[in-house]
Amino acid sequence: MPEQVVHTSRKAKGGPRPKHVPRRTCVVCRDQDAKRSLTRVVRQPDGSVVLDPSGKLNGRGAYLCDRERCWDLAITSPILAKALRIEIDETIRDRLRSHRQERPGSGPQEGMSD
Ligand SMILES: [Zn+2]
Repeated sequence: MPEQVVHTSRKAKGGPRPKHVPRRTCVVCRDQDAKRSLTRVVRQPDGSVVLDPSGKLNGRGAYLCDRERCWDLAITSPILAKALRIEIDETIRDRLRSHRQERPGSGPQEGMSD
C-alpha cells in the first residue's frame, strides 16, 4: 500500500489576526487619536533633530499632534526635550516654529465646544 502523503505545509489555523495598529501619542497633550495627524520629530543618531512626516527615519522619535498649543509647548517647555532626551536649542526651535507656521492655517477655527 502506498503511503499517503499529507501536505501539512499550511499552518493549522489561520484565524483572523488582530491588526497591529501602532498607537501614537502626542508627547504634549498625551492624546491618542488616529484621526489627528501627528508629526514625528526624530532625534537622529548624529544628534540632529528633524521633522519626519513620513515616519521612516531612524532615531528616537516623539509625536506632536496638530494642535497649535502642543507645538507652542514643544517649543517653549521641556516636554519635547525630555521625550527626545535632548536640549532644544535655537536651531531646533526655529525648525519647529517654521513647521508650525508652514501648516496651512489648519482649517477654519473649530468651535469652542467639543
Ligand atoms: Zn497634542
